[in-house]
Amino acid sequence: MMYKKLIYVIVCSGFLGACQQQESNISSSNIVTTTQESTSLASKSVLQKGEHYYFIQGKYDKIPIVNKKYPVSKDYNPGEDAVAKAALLKLQEAMRKEGFAIASGYSGFRDYNLQSYFYNKYVETDGKEKADTYSARPGYSEHQLGLVFDLWEDEQGTLLEEPVASKWLAEHAHRYGFIVRYTPGKEYSTGYQAESWHIRYIGQEAEEIYRSKLSLEEYFGVEGGNYRD
Ligand SMILES: [Zn+2]
Repeated sequence: MMYKKLIYVIVCSGFLGACQQQESNISSSNIVTTTQESTSLASKSVLQKGEHYYFIQGKYDKIPIVNKKYPVSKDYNPGEDAVAKAALLKLQEAMRKEGFAIASGYSGFRDYNLQSYFYNKYVETDGKEKADTYSARPGYSEHQLGLVFDLWEDEQGTLLEEPVASKWLAEHAHRYGFIVRYTPGKEYSTGYQAESWHIRYIGQEAEEIYRSKLSLEEYFGVEGGNYRD
């Protein structure tokens, strides 16, 4: 990998377009090829069941997985993750410097009961089928990990959808350790409609995930999509 990386750095300097291509090739080769190196990564990418949630041992960190197939326990109540919050503040600052309207308010950690409240409200308004496309059932929300933030355009809580800011976020979030979790065209994998505002803290591996152009589920080979029932 080190060798490949070096080659990559040399090849890339000065050729941004080629760079993107090269990088995505390397990332996908980690997952699907049969070299010794990728085999070792694949063997580490086994979904494990922890006390409160499922996780993957990523390249650098343990990566909790919460989606419509893999819930988090009802009593898991970690609050906001301090490392993720510090990264969020840096990202928000960077976005403001770019001239984007980014509120200091956001929607972050939600415990099981708060998620129940929201989900039930959406079901009342839109019906269960529709609500399931944009709101997680209690116990299935990534927000319960304390690693997720919905960015706001204003202090009234308007979710970040402005196209230019959203594009910048999609292309730069990894520099701060985040991925935009639900991207267009990946609904079959993530189980949710695209959300330009919902960022998930990953840490160092965010960059590789971003470059791979895969969903979190695809990148780690984890089952996603809809609920089992
Ligand atoms: Zn969200």
